Amino acid sequence: MKFQPDNNGYYGQFGGAFIPELLYPNVKELEDNYIQIIESESFQKEYKDLLKHYVGRPSPLYLAKRLSQKYGATIYLKREDLNHTGAHKVNNTIGQILIAKHLGKTKIIAETGAGQHGVATATVCALMDLECVVFMGETDIKRQAPNVARMKMLGAKVVPATSGSKTLKDATNEAIRYWIQHPDTYYLIGSVVGPHPYPDMVARLQAVISEEMKVQLKEQTGKENPNTIIACVGGGSNAAGAFYHYLEDEEVELIAVEAAGLGVDSGESAATSQLGEVGVIHGSKTILMQDEYGQIIEPYSISAGLDYPGVGPLHAFLHETKRAMFMNATDKEALAAAYELTKIEGIIPALESAHALAVLPKMNLQKDQVVVVNLSGRGDKDLETYIKHLE
Ligand SMILES: *Cc1c(COP(=O)(O)O)cnc(C)c1O
Repeated sequence: MKFQPDNNGYYGQFGGAFIPELLYPNVKELEDNYIQIIESESFQKEYKDLLKHYVGRPSPLYLAKRLSQKYGATIYLKREDLNHTGAHKVNNTIGQILIAKHLGKTKIIAETGAGQHGVATATVCALMDLECVVFMGETDIKRQAPNVARMKMLGAKVVPATSGSKTLKDATNEAIRYWIQHPDTYYLIGSVVGPHPYPDMVARLQAVISEEMKVQLKEQTGKENPNTIIACVGGGSNAAGAFYHYLEDEEVELIAVEAAGLGVDSGESAATSQLGEVGVIHGSKTILMQDEYGQIIEPYSISAGLDYPGVGPLHAFLHETKRAMFMNATDKEALAAAYELTKIEGIIPALESAHALAVLPKMNLQKDQVVVVNLSGRGDKDLETYIKHLE
């Protein structure tokens, strides 16, 4: 299985666990137990039950007829936007909160950039009656007031990170510092990033997306496999979930779409695969945007969820081995794709998901080509941006 990590959490040269000595017991405890827990009957029963009755899964696989007509292919949308809380992130937080419970943890910490992962974490902590502390950059707290309000209403404590640029990477540093001081807490990471076993664990929890796709495609087209799957990449969790059960099946084309912001060469972008180099971020070896001194370059995208300076180690490996093709879309292209989907299908996508849609016009699609676009989230949270740019 070429695209599964080895025993040390490496996908080729990428992955591993670069963590302070003091965190070793915590990470080791998780590493020793996560697969066994995920594969246990009691976990599976509770996880599947909550996904069905709380999240609303399976999410529909929708044949977008007018979009298909426009681009001359057969285009399906995997509707993660219809999940409770509005995106794919909850698949992961539901799974990890159950793992935390199996490990006997009673306190959860998380970091968040725009607040989406913070809200998804605060949601499952409310559901499970667990204490929740979310670290968030002070700048982000000011920019993302509605999500801060949601987290507080859900009972989470939001702690401002006041160092550096006061954004996501500073919140991550604070969370790790807190974890070292309170090793009894469970650190709930929001994407396929972080030290091993997080990337593999989160990929397994998001894999429900492609598991359902196989069944749904078989029902609707007679075949389990599409020709092409397209997903946007911030850290890479929705893409990992949409690709997971197709990774070893090399006839299925996988397309990962990064945010090009104002343009790949503008200095204001988050196109890690184009601009990044090998380095260590957030406890794993991967590709990331860094300057000549190894300092992280602040990424930029109109969509908060894609505004991350690295990608998870699986994606670095998919890029290096060319198993996935990496494309990108600018702010402008994503906005145009979002307006288009809204007008012709009556679906307002998240700005992140709009990046995946934005590559459709750049591809040479064939009439009988079956394409699945993973619609990772809904656009309610982006209305202010959409209204501001509406002509
Ligand atoms: C957070 C988010 C993303 C990006 O995260 P990944 O881990 O790359 O999936 C994409 N879409 C939506 C709607 C999000 O909220």
